Amino acid sequence: MLMVSSGAGWNEQLVDAMFLPFEAQRINGIPICITSQADCVLWLKCRTESYSVRSGYQLLCEAGSTGAPSGSTEEGVKKFWKSIWRIKVPDKVKVFLWQACSSALPTKAGLHKRKIVDDNLCDQCLVEVEDEVHAIWSCDCVRDVWEAPFAATRTKNTRMNSMCDMVYFIAEETRELEKFAMVAWAVWQRRNKLRLKEDITPIHKVYKLALSLLTEFQQKKSNPTGQRQSRPNRWLSPQPNSVKFNFDGAFFNDLNEAGVGVVVRDERGEVRDIREF
Ligand SMILES: [Zn+2]
Repeated sequence: MLMVSSGAGWNEQLVDAMFLPFEAQRINGIPICITSQADCVLWLKCRTESYSVRSGYQLLCEAGSTGAPSGSTEEGVKKFWKSIWRIKVPDKVKVFLWQACSSALPTKAGLHKRKIVDDNLCDQCLVEVEDEVHAIWSCDCVRDVWEAPFAATRTKNTRMNSMCDMVYFIAEETRELEKFAMVAWAVWQRRNKLRLKEDITPIHKVYKLALSLLTEFQQKKSNPTGQRQSRPNRWLSPQPNSVKFNFDGAFFNDLNEAGVGVVVRDERGEVRDIREF
């Protein structure tokens, strides 16, 4: 039971064991009503008291300060989170960066704290504890991902205590937070695929692939009209009992290489296979 049976409060020890530190801190801070009455669900960020995505997004922007480095002023913290939400990358990458900076990614260290896995060691190097910074940046097994301008920054071997430190540092050193976010996201996706024993992008191609996705995204953003004229607005599912192949390609002039990605989906739109060549 997450609440003590007398209704006197949270079972803080259990909450601490089951949730990440920032989640546990918030849960334990929720006051519990001491009188007996029926429960109801309210969302106080809307006048209608019903949840809306818009209000949820605003709340995330406001509450994002939880995982920020200690010692920062409130103004500095707000600026930090705004700088993350303003970067021109896909929304899923912003959410990823927010999760990473809030210690909310399911790293081995986080899962171990919650007693979900037996050890906290990185599955790739098998030597160090896998927290966000290790998985994305400092693990020797992802060293070859980080090309210029990040390679020089990485060789400085500056000690990063958290992803917030990391983001501050990268923004300061390279002014390339969008590239960093995109590549970090690609590294994390690759790490997840490795854990699931799925096909992965070769390590030396991760950086180029991530940057080509970023370029494609930013071009679409800057020319949305052209996009609508040249392509259909909506993906259409294939006939029942059949699958649909969607593919796209990219050229990397500096490498004299080209890449093709293929996604196979069934009639419900569910991804059946993904291949990169
Ligand atoms: Zn490692």
